[in-house]
Amino acid sequence: MMLAALVAAAPVAVESIRAEQGGIWRGQLPAGSHDAQLDGKPVRITPDGRYIIGFGRDAAPAATLTWQDARGTALSAAITVAPRPWQVQSLPTLPVLPVPDAEFAARRPAELAQIAAARADISDITGWQGRFIAPARGPISGVYGSQRILSGTPSAPHAGLDFAAPAGSDVVAPAAGIVRLASGPFTLEGNLVMIDHGFGLVSACLHLSRIDVKPGDVVVQGQRIGLVGATGRATGPHLHWAVSWTDVRIDPAQLLELKP
Ligand SMILES: [Zn+2]
Repeated sequence: MMLAALVAAAPVAVESIRAEQGGIWRGQLPAGSHDAQLDGKPVRITPDGRYIIGFGRDAAPAATLTWQDARGTALSAAITVAPRPWQVQSLPTLPVLPVPDAEFAARRPAELAQIAAARADISDITGWQGRFIAPARGPISGVYGSQRILSGTPSAPHAGLDFAAPAGSDVVAPAAGIVRLASGPFTLEGNLVMIDHGFGLVSACLHLSRIDVKPGDVVVQGQRIGLVGATGRATGPHLHWAVSWTDVRIDPAQLLELKP
């Protein structure tokens, strides 16, 4: 009996959620729910129970959301994460890749630290709750999750959505938020704007030719934040839009399909 008292009761399963790899899930628990966690990772929750969680390209097929209700009862939801067929292209010959030069090696650590700091600064604003719009106008020229295998060696999967928008066309905020980073050119990202939409959801817009905002600016959905360019590592003008939920890269195309 004494031993049993020391073991916390398993959370009572009250809900099931169907998500998919690269996807985002917005849900609502009863008001007063608190201490939510996705597989042990803290999940923010509004006083009226709203939350957002995301799943990476290679997310495992099952996950668990746990929380406590207003009376402190431990509850859980089983999450099924459906696999998605990613575009994988095998190329027999290894193209000649530029060897990272000394300047890149010297600059990169500070750039990565700046980007990580921008992601770490998370607000309670509600941009994540609404409908999202595309940050540029143009055909999709690169999808999230696609990967090339070069002579048997897999390269890093494409972690964003590419818009083949003309150089100098507008890049707009896909949802309301606070600008956390507006600087460049970074070696790979070029001129980069990162927008915090709240609750861990962050947009990054890469390769801009011009930046029209500064860190700390509050932007509304559709507000111009810069212009399409080809700065950083880009073969031509396009907008690369990447979205992360905490440290998980999600598929921006899934965000565009979310209903409010
Ligand atoms: Zn891209």
